[in-house]
Formats: sequence, C-alpha cells, structure tokens
Amino acid sequence: MVYRIVCAWCQKEMGEKECPGSMVMKDAISHSICECCKGKVIIEIEQLENGGGECAMIL
Ligand SMILES: [Zn+2]
Repeated sequence: MVYRIVCAWCQKEMGEKECPGSMVMKDAISHSICECCKGKVIIEIEQLENGGGECAMIL
C-alpha cells in the first residue's frame, strides 16, 4: 500500500511512499518535516543552544 508523507509543522503534503504490503493501516500518514520548516527548526535549536532567553518555544 501507499502512505502519505506530511510535514508535521505546516501540514504540507510531501508526496507518497510505498510501504511493505504486510503493514495494514488505514489512512496511513507518515509525518516528516519539509525543507522550509527544517530550516526554521534548526535556527530555533541553535538559538536555544546559544542560551537565548526565549526557551520552550518548540515543545
Ligand atoms: Zn513544513
């Protein structure tokens, strides 16, 4: 069967992927992260590691 890949941050559709037929799932969705959100998240993590005052914004 085929499952959809969706960005967990902005819900953007990132395409479809074949998965082994032994897996039975309904409305299968795999969450990933698109290039746009990945860039933003990396910047936020770097800011946290640099001891920025604004923490806990990601979780
Ligand atoms: Zn995204």
